[in-house]
Amino acid sequence: MYKYRSFWLIICLLGVGFSAHAKPTSVSSVRLFAHVDKTRVVFDVSKRPVYNMFTLANPHRLVIDIQNARLARKSQLSSDNHPLISRIRSAKKAKGKLRVVLDLKDAISSRSFTLSPNKSLGHRLVVDIVPKNPKFLAQQYKHNNKTVSAKKSLKNIKRDVVIAIDAGHGGKDTGAIGPKGTREKDVVFKIAKKLESMINRKPGMKAVLIRKGDYYVKLRDRMKLARKAKADLFVSIHADAFKDSQVKGASVFMVSRKGASSEAARWLANKENSVEKELVGGVGLRGRDKQVQTVIIDLAVTATNEASRKVGDKVLKQIKHAGHHLHQDKVQKAGFVVLKAPDIPSILVETAFISNPGEERKLGSEKYQYKIATSVYRGIYGYFKNNAPADTFLAHLQEQKLQSKHVIARGETLSEIAVRYGVSMKAIKHVNSLAGNMVKIGQVLTIPAGS
Ligand SMILES: [Zn+2]
Repeated sequence: MYKYRSFWLIICLLGVGFSAHAKPTSVSSVRLFAHVDKTRVVFDVSKRPVYNMFTLANPHRLVIDIQNARLARKSQLSSDNHPLISRIRSAKKAKGKLRVVLDLKDAISSRSFTLSPNKSLGHRLVVDIVPKNPKFLAQQYKHNNKTVSAKKSLKNIKRDVVIAIDAGHGGKDTGAIGPKGTREKDVVFKIAKKLESMINRKPGMKAVLIRKGDYYVKLRDRMKLARKAKADLFVSIHADAFKDSQVKGASVFMVSRKGASSEAARWLANKENSVEKELVGGVGLRGRDKQVQTVIIDLAVTATNEASRKVGDKVLKQIKHAGHHLHQDKVQKAGFVVLKAPDIPSILVETAFISNPGEERKLGSEKYQYKIATSVYRGIYGYFKNNAPADTFLAHLQEQKLQSKHVIARGETLSEIAVRYGVSMKAIKHVNSLAGNMVKIGQVLTIPAGS
């Protein structure tokens, strides 16, 4: 990991011509982004700011002084039960200086940079805060669910990618039962819960559990609940069973295109499904003639199936990568009713064979449940990282990443910058046509999107 310095001062490149008579920099909003390992504070400003930053101890504070600046609205400084920041204050100092103080719950190091306007956002000052104790945030997240409130500030801008997690069976339906009596409905629910918390911890993603406890939900109602939650993906979690107790490994299923099309036809035929008819693929179907309806649904099914296959593929790769045995190494097609939503990409994960004594034991262990949930999570995120719908925060992040500029500050190296943005040095050098590894203070680099 690269090092953060606890104190440093940066005078921005374009700040050289600054004078007290210039129009003040207006700070229109302060946004907090909670990541697993850091917090990002973004100031939306009217122009490239001239600022400096320093930390204070007892109690821990980070002070950001912005020259010739003012806050557009006082009420915007909300730390919202943040895991790391207890309060954000501001004060006017001499010569029009705006001082913003972050009261912190623990010692931190910090880094900052400015971003130029892009298609959707204006000038920004970005401050990344990393706790000095690497376990601090993990502990905070464990003890409470404060990421949820930290994420609230994002929601006003772009929506979350919504993942509907369907723990198979439930209630009177136990699912398969292992030789030692382990019930599928119990272990898949535990895996689903773990997957839920991983997704909810990711800024820009939200999980919705289809069943929230040990009760049965009809198969078609599971799809309806996913649609009601406006899910971008439906993932059903199961454990396999077979009469031969030697058979083992994980599989991923999607519905065959024919299965999805016939389900769509069933919808069209059913007058009671009028609400759903309006929703397929986001296109209104009500009042259109039968043939047009069929074509629209067919297009939706094609796109949905392509997405299902891609997500399924990513999940399967992650399961394999984590060292689990695969029962089938390609995404399988099947006619599961639960996967037949024509407008929501859907996959079903058979996590292991509960009928195999070794895998039954694994399914019952917290460690395996966590590992398989992690693989599923990584597959899902791996897909949406590059394929998020345009109105989501993840798509916005991707776009912003593509357009990021970085101004080299004193002491920064190319390798450090590559680590910070999660891209390779090679990629940065390629985009900026750099021959060597040398960078100069004040040099502006284009940062390509991460892989
Ligand atoms: Zn099952």
